[in-house]
Amino acid sequence: MSNRILGLHHITAIANIAQRNHDFYTKVLGLRLVKKTVNFDDPGTYHFYYGNEEGTPGTILTFFPWEGIGQGTNGVGMATEIAYAVPGGSIDFWKERFKQFNIKTSEAVERFGEIYLPFTDPDGLNLALVVPKTTDNRKGWATGDVAESVATKGFQGATLSLKELEPTAKVLTDILGYKQTGQEGNRYRFITDAIETASTIDILVDEKGKRGYNAAGTNHHIAFRVENDDVQMAFREKILSAGLQITPKIDRDYFFSLYFREPGGVLFEIATDNPGFTVDEPLIQLGSKLKLPKQYEPARAEIERVLPVLK
Ligand code: ZN
Repeated sequence: MSNRILGLHHITAIANIAQRNHDFYTKVLGLRLVKKTVNFDDPGTYHFYYGNEEGTPGTILTFFPWEGIGQGTNGVGMATEIAYAVPGGSIDFWKERFKQFNIKTSEAVERFGEIYLPFTDPDGLNLALVVPKTTDNRKGWATGDVAESVATKGFQGATLSLKELEPTAKVLTDILGYKQTGQEGNRYRFITDAIETASTIDILVDEKGKRGYNAAGTNHHIAFRVENDDVQMAFREKILSAGLQITPKIDRDYFFSLYFREPGGVLFEIATDNPGFTVDEPLIQLGSKLKLPKQYEPARAEIERVLPVLK
């Protein structure tokens, strides 16, 4: 039993074309589509969840593909990079693969003694691959093209771009249980020792930075992981006592959620391990059928007519 924040649970971003998003994440990056559902607040839009075999918290990247949405811009008040842990020795494989698929990459950079290979998805979302210094025993999802020996293991962490360090750092340390472990230039590293993976948050301070615009190619929110809804509700009390606004508990079918905006402007969520993605389809079939929350089941025919057909 843990009553702590267990690193990241999932990250949710915005995409434009559903098919292009699906192909990039399942084929090029080799993730498993673990759930194909709709945006619960806008059922004419898909909600895709990509992760490892089981969609273990800490591996889940989710998208709302809003066809025709404009391009977003990264800026302060947002999560501006997602880092995936990959096995040692796999970077050359990925460089070659990205070249083959015309994926935009930047020069590898070193941060806190780890090498990052930055790249962008077809909507311009910033991602990076990193071989972590610490051991990561999570098993990657293998596909025909991406063997387990090179497959992504899940998140290593995320970068938040902010005007000021202190207010957000205080939320990370005083409420969420992270510790500041390093600084390189304007990048500050925070790690939780409650879990070994998906445990890193970097804050990149840009005092003169403009606010980002949340549309295609940007992150919508980042979710922190808790074991269950009892722990979650204890965090709700802590967050309220710190004077921040927070939503009531919301049932997202695969987990329970609370949302709050941290003082730097990034939308944070706290999400539970329970009940998980096998609640409405068996492990072997995850992601293969369109799953709808029960309130939309009567409108299934209409919803399926409106959603883009995936090839
Ligand atoms: Zn979420």
